[in-house]
Amino acid sequence: MRCPKCKTELIKGKRKRYETLEEHVLDPNKSNYPLRPTFVCPNNCLGKDSYFDFDGSLCSDGKNIIPSNCFSALDSMDRKNNIKVDLTRLSTNFLYHARSLSLLIIDGEKDIPPKWKWPFYALRGKILNICYKWKHRNKKDDKLFFSKTPNF
Ligand SMILES: [Zn+2]
Repeated sequence: MRCPKCKTELIKGKRKRYETLEEHVLDPNKSNYPLRPTFVCPNNCLGKDSYFDFDGSLCSDGKNIIPSNCFSALDSMDRKNNIKVDLTRLSTNFLYHARSLSLLIIDGEKDIPPKWKWPFYALRGKILNICYKWKHRNKKDDKLFFSKTPNF
């Protein structure tokens, strides 16, 4: 993983207790976490107390103002996920997701496709959606299942 600001390889920091994304989803009320590895920038670009967790997501004390393209480390799972989500959802709300994609752009990095390709991602998503609906057009059972209200 690399620092999103100066692009140097991150080094291991002090082990800290923090919540992973998985825990946040499965058990958000957990109060104690085991000591986990952290990653920090050797140049301290994002503040002294900021660190990246092992998914590459930034944990910060909130003292510094951090630009939105620095919330996840380069080459990390967190950044890949953020880009993938916006690229696939361009077909549903193009302007909104195009805006959040442009906030993720880092100069000189090629992990986001160029802007002129984004309408093609949106179009591909729309076509896939139509194909999906056409393929599942006769499955009325699914609809019945979801529209049924349980009898108590
Ligand atoms: Zn840095």
